[in-house]
Amino acid sequence: MRTVYLDHSATTPVHPDVVEAMLPFFTEEYGNASSIHRFGRNARVAVDEAREKVARLLNAQDQEIYFTSGGTEGDNLAIKGVAWALRDKGDHIITSQIEHEAVLNTCRYLERNGFEVNYLPVDQYGMVDPTDVRKAITDKTILISVMHANNEVGTIQPIAEIGAMARQREILFHTDAVQTVGKLPVDVKALSVDLLSMSGHKFYGPKGVGALYMRKGAKIQPLAHGGHHENWKRAGTENIPGIVGMAKAMEICYQELDIVSKKESQLRDALQKGIQETIADVRFNGHPTQRLPGSLSACFQALEGEALILSLDLKGVAASTGSACSSGSLEPSHVLKAMGVPIEIAHGSARLTLGRSNTQEEIDYVLEVLPQIVDRLRSMSPLRPSKEVC
Ligand SMILES: *Cc1c(COP(=O)(O)O)cnc(C)c1O
Repeated sequence: MRTVYLDHSATTPVHPDVVEAMLPFFTEEYGNASSIHRFGRNARVAVDEAREKVARLLNAQDQEIYFTSGGTEGDNLAIKGVAWALRDKGDHIITSQIEHEAVLNTCRYLERNGFEVNYLPVDQYGMVDPTDVRKAITDKTILISVMHANNEVGTIQPIAEIGAMARQREILFHTDAVQTVGKLPVDVKALSVDLLSMSGHKFYGPKGVGALYMRKGAKIQPLAHGGHHENWKRAGTENIPGIVGMAKAMEICYQELDIVSKKESQLRDALQKGIQETIADVRFNGHPTQRLPGSLSACFQALEGEALILSLDLKGVAASTGSACSSGSLEPSHVLKAMGVPIEIAHGSARLTLGRSNTQEEIDYVLEVLPQIVDRLRSMSPLRPSKEVC
């Protein structure tokens, strides 16, 4: 059976050149970067080169890059790290209602530990208003954390504006850029961020590796204590193959950024147009223009998103309801809820996220099977509005 992968916001396949770059570090180059012999030195060189690449692509300095185990750890390290470092200065944190669970649940944990957190609302497109951020700032505010682009609906946030404001008030600003690194230009200086988290597996690198950018002069407490790794901010022997692979993946994504994002957004637009033309009662979520190139989120009225995803899976099409983390739960997406989508409509949501190797033929195939599935599910649905009754 034909398979079409449309879940690139959950994870991506590792690029073949990335696998190739990683392989030697599983075999002959197995050194520990802390050892002083040749094996160790080779590993150290590999980590240094990877750090240099990541730093250059983010317009940062090498010493400002800290390797982590992924986006979740980066978010935790940034938010708890600042909270514990600055708790004498203040106990107030500002974030948004549409953050990834890695940010939201970290903030909830801090609330249970004496911090006060503001969860800012968003508009109908899932956009945070910088004015709301400004109004929420108090003299106790130590951190603002707003994601660069949302993983469910793809809306790109006004990070540079929020960053400039935070800088002016001398408040640390973190952004979860897991969905944008490798997909959009990410320049830490232009964005005026102090902390930025990213994750390798969202841009064709391996799983279990990420990085946190931390501006020189920003202060955090480490979460893991141990050796001197990552300048005492993140103890533990470095994941050399992962680090090498992530840097390679990032390099490939930025070399081909223009072509890939143009192709992805064209295919995404074709998919959206096709759905609009063949299926009634669909509403698209996210900002019409300020949106990730491959991202399409739609609510199909009078059906269950889970049923839709399972039916698509039987036809070889891999998509998701909201975020990968909330699938399996019957709670409607917190993102759609924050955007004011009525609960019964949010239940019919599907997220289709395209990647670099999707083709027009695949989109044609999806547009062939999707209307049939929607028809069948609606014909069985008790939610279907009946014409006679209306
Ligand atoms: C995937 C994702 C994360 C988590 O990253 P992991 O590397 O899987 O831990 C965090 N934030 C956003 C926006 C994501 O999409």
